[in-house]
Amino acid sequence: MARIRISGIVNDSIVDGPGLRYTIFTQGCPHHCEGCHNPQTHTYKGGKKISLKKIKKDILSNPLLQGVTFSGGDPFVQAEKLIPVAKFIKEQGLELACYTGYVFEMLISGNIPYARELLSYIDVLIDGRFVLSQKSLDLKFKGSKNQRTIDVQASLKEGKVILMTDQRWT
Ligand code: SF4
Repeated sequence: MARIRISGIVNDSIVDGPGLRYTIFTQGCPHHCEGCHNPQTHTYKGGKKISLKKIKKDILSNPLLQGVTFSGGDPFVQAEKLIPVAKFIKEQGLELACYTGYVFEMLISGNIPYARELLSYIDVLIDGRFVLSQKSLDLKFKGSKNQRTIDVQASLKEGKVILMTDQRWT
C-alpha cells in the first residue's frame, strides 16, 4: 500500500471544521499563494510518509472524533493515495472535509488524476487558493472571501456547485 507524504497530523483539531477532528496536512502544493500560512508544505520532497494502517489506528483510538479533514499542502496532489483513507473514514461514519487550492470545476474536469474519485467520498470541500487581498478573519473555517464551502455530494449530483447550508459550517 502506497504511503502518503504528510507535513503533519493533528489528532484533536477544533479549527479545521466543526467538532473534534483528525486533520491530515499533506505535503506538496502547486499553488504558491501569496501569504500562505504553511509554506513548508509546498515542496514535494519534504515532510514524512505515513501508512494507512497508522492513520486507521489513530482514528479508531479516538471515539470522540466527529470528523476528519484533509488539509495541506494540497490533498489533491496525492488524490490516488488518499482514496483508501477517505473510504475508511466514510466507513466509520465520520464527516470528511477537504481543503484545496483548486476550484471544484477544475477537480471535476478530468484534468486532475483521481480527483473525481476522491471527491466521491468527501462531504465538504473548501475550494480555491488563498487570496491575500480577500483575506478576512470573519470567515468560518476559511481564509479568504473567494473560497467556497461546498456540499460535495449535492454538487456532484447536480453537476454544479451547491454551497453548504449546514450552520455548523457557515
Ligand atoms: S493552496 Fe493552501 S497550502 Fe497551497 S499555497 Fe495556497 S494556501 Fe498554501
